[in-house]
Amino acid sequence: MAIEICTTCDHSWDAARRPMCPNCQTQHWQSLPNLLRPKHDPNQIQPLKVFRTVVPYDFPASASVYLWHVAANGSAFVSLRNRDYFEFAQVGPQMSSGSTVAPGSTTPTTPHDGFVIVQAHQPKAHIFAQDLGVIQQRVAEGKYLPLQSCVVRGCPNLRVPPGDRCVEHSNPPLARGPI
Ligand SMILES: [Zn+2]
Ligand SMILES: [Zn+2]
Repeated sequence: MAIEICTTCDHSWDAARRPMCPNCQTQHWQSLPNLLRPKHDPNQIQPLKVFRTVVPYDFPASASVYLWHVAANGSAFVSLRNRDYFEFAQVGPQMSSGSTVAPGSTTPTTPHDGFVIVQAHQPKAHIFAQDLGVIQQRVAEGKYLPLQSCVVRGCPNLRVPPGDRCVEHSNPPLARGPI
């Protein structure tokens, strides 16, 4: 446990499990106008030549619920191919899953068991459905690495991408330890 208190909103969380304040992270993602791209929006499916996944139908109305779930419970990874930092969270209880839409189709079919937010710390962040099994396989192949800890010796917190320091050791600090 490495409890930190957000300097922006006073929310406290375990920064060894989640790199950033889940409250501020949720608000940030929700503020992005292109977080849900048309390609992944189940309410405006156009037939495509390729497989794609869509988020649940209720995502636009319940975005804060889904985004909080990822911000609070997700796992952070770095893709070695493009150095992208992304977040993955399995579908939580009381939560719908996203689905695959086959090439040429406009109907979501096979359900997925989680959500990914790619380019998660950038303005280009966007969300789609993905399976835990795919993430685990790419970790096993060495294509994805779990996000590393803070570079400060002995600090258990995860680093804040794209930097190498945690919320407390960033300059200026994004969080402080309990007094
Ligand atoms: Zn906060
Ligand atoms: Zn640190």
